Amino acid sequence: MQILKPIVHETIWGGTKLAPYGNSSCTRIGHLYCAVDTNEFCSEIIAGSSKGRNLHEWFTEHKHEYGLGQYEQLPFLTALVDAAQDLSIQVHPDDEMARKLVGHPFGKNESFYIINPPSSGSMYSGCRVKDIEEMRRFISQGRIADAIDSIPVKIGDYISIPGGTLHAATAGSLIFEIEENCEVTYRFWDFDRTDAVGEKRPLQLKQAMACLHVEKKSAVRRYNPPNPICERMYHSWLVHGSEIESFRCERTFALATLIYGEEQVDIQDEQETAIIRPGTTILLTPGEAFCPGTSDWIVCSPSLKVS
Ligand SMILES: [Zn+2]
Repeated sequence: MQILKPIVHETIWGGTKLAPYGNSSCTRIGHLYCAVDTNEFCSEIIAGSSKGRNLHEWFTEHKHEYGLGQYEQLPFLTALVDAAQDLSIQVHPDDEMARKLVGHPFGKNESFYIINPPSSGSMYSGCRVKDIEEMRRFISQGRIADAIDSIPVKIGDYISIPGGTLHAATAGSLIFEIEENCEVTYRFWDFDRTDAVGEKRPLQLKQAMACLHVEKKSAVRRYNPPNPICERMYHSWLVHGSEIESFRCERTFALATLIYGEEQVDIQDEQETAIIRPGTTILLTPGEAFCPGTSDWIVCSPSLKVS
């Protein structure tokens, strides 16, 4: 069992909810990365037998044992997201467009688990136009806001957002996010917001339009414990400590992130004890188990290839 240290990422739309969990005085924390292995961020292992190494080194050493040899980096990443303001309206490429535009082998599908719902009760999802021509017309007429659809979301909802879907998290929401590891986001619209010096953030409208599938919407689901929700590259389980005594990692490795509560965890081989707070992740290998205590967790594992 290894423990990963969360990483603070400041963004202009972030807030203060994650500051105590990231040991940070930053007042605009957008992401608290829980398990991440990208070019920009990499989780550090702070307890366990691989202490002092990072998640990329661990993944590179073990990926062949789990049938993930084709991946350069951990194929998914997780984060807590505090949206103090609406995020910009964005789109991620699907596989075809990721290959075409940036030469990445796969696009980005992502999932949001709603810990605190947004104050508006909805998030942006999909379009209100029938085709890309109509979208072009809305843009040229300065009516972008009218072309963007939204869906109602409530606490405990799990939202699947396929690549090519117009989307954005909205103000007030606290989310646990699981994303496929393709670092490509195209900003479609930013509500004409300006920063402290009156600058707008750049848009990538051309690429966003090329990736956009106007008919795609996010899908809202609910966890039904003990069953996982299965996506093409990751599975995840919602674990309520009040309902089960221990969670056992079975066939592939698992990343268990505490999302609500606080626990003390003994790391058996190391005779260490760690305090686990929201955003901190335990990395388990098959045969290992952890006790969720009275806290809530989301556990993520890579999807096993169907052969
Ligand atoms: Zn996104």
